[in-house]
Amino acid sequence: MEQEPSATITIRAELSPFKQADRISAIEVSEIIRISALASELSRQGRAIISLGAGEPDFDTPQNVKDAAFAAIARGDTKYTSLDGTPALKEAIREKFLRDNGILFETNEITVAAGAKQILFNAMMATLNEGDEVIIPTPSWVSYADIVKIAGGVPVMVECQEDSGFRLTADQLESAITSRTRWVVINSPGNPTGTTYSAEDYRPLLDVLLRHKGVWLLADDIYEHILYDQRGFVTPAAIDPKLRSQILTVNGVSKAYAMTGWRIGFAAGPNELIKAMAVVQSQSTSCPSSVSQAAAVEALRGSQLGLAERRKSFEDRRNFIVGALNTIDGVSCRQPEGAFYAFANCSGLMGRKTPDGRVIETDAALAVYLLTAANVALVPGSAFGAPGYLRLSYATSMSNLEEAMSRIKSACERLMVRAAAEREEDRR
Ligand code: PLP
Repeated sequence: MEQEPSATITIRAELSPFKQADRISAIEVSEIIRISALASELSRQGRAIISLGAGEPDFDTPQNVKDAAFAAIARGDTKYTSLDGTPALKEAIREKFLRDNGILFETNEITVAAGAKQILFNAMMATLNEGDEVIIPTPSWVSYADIVKIAGGVPVMVECQEDSGFRLTADQLESAITSRTRWVVINSPGNPTGTTYSAEDYRPLLDVLLRHKGVWLLADDIYEHILYDQRGFVTPAAIDPKLRSQILTVNGVSKAYAMTGWRIGFAAGPNELIKAMAVVQSQSTSCPSSVSQAAAVEALRGSQLGLAERRKSFEDRRNFIVGALNTIDGVSCRQPEGAFYAFANCSGLMGRKTPDGRVIETDAALAVYLLTAANVALVPGSAFGAPGYLRLSYATSMSNLEEAMSRIKSACERLMVRAAAEREEDRR
């Protein structure tokens, strides 16, 4: 009798081998996942790993936001809400766009989802047919390309160079457009580079879009409030009213209000697109969490003073980490203008040898070396389409950053010492 259930299971497994859909096979396991798995394994073994891999603020969600969530639960806001956002949250978002960006949207031009990520997913599922193209300037956040692929589209990666500030140029955009192009994605401030686009940077790109009415711009503004050196933020829909019918402006509360786990993102754009996105959502999650929506209303409507405090902490950390990176031989790091990532050029370390004799040939090998030799987890640039770089998130305490940078510097110096000694040996 004891044997019977497992025997049944074995037979079922043989009859029903798992077969994954083609759309999933197109998604590669990212370097981020590989490094995180190795970091978790080393932590389990008792190593004190400092993670500079996280894409989320280390700050706690503000108390007024938590209180609003408790109040929502107490008054019974615990049921399904309207499909793509409560009227109260849509109104708060409408006010946010007017207050922060000077754009007046109607509430029927606004949609809410479980994070900006679901907004992107809804947008791509609602607009792409098999083979339609989406232009993605790289280095870029990994999910853009994968979401496009899941939706049946083709990501067209356009490499942006460090000496142009990792910004897409009008010429690059113009030459990437084909008859299949549906979208171009611009993320400012950007993950992983911290690059921002000013109104002057956007203008030539918008001029290209004015000539290509079928190509829409997805402006991912999720890092809007994490912007340094007293830079002002500008979103493309505010620059040229003629383009409003071609732009989806994406934002959310995750990064600005330290609310990654609450899963609230939102977007504003033409009503036809917003309606189509709601159809996708209606058959996936039905609606965003009722409690999180109430919390997001408070985040957007309550005191905004915390934004400046968090921005100041991030700026201090940026100054520290970029300064520290630039003291390491073989590494250079451009000053990011926003977001909370340093994107360090490590090409000068390629070809050097680890103390145990392994040659560092790729950024992924360098990330593994820093994880195993310095106990610091970070993400190789190739995960973002930029080999030769490392992304270091500084969304962690200054004391963690100081310790991490001292470990990284000394691990890199160990590389140099060995390489120099070997070169010397070669000469003899
Ligand atoms: N866009 C960018 C550029 C991001 O880096 C992230 C998260 O890392 C998101 C969107 C997704 O944010 P959310 O937590 O709102 O889904």
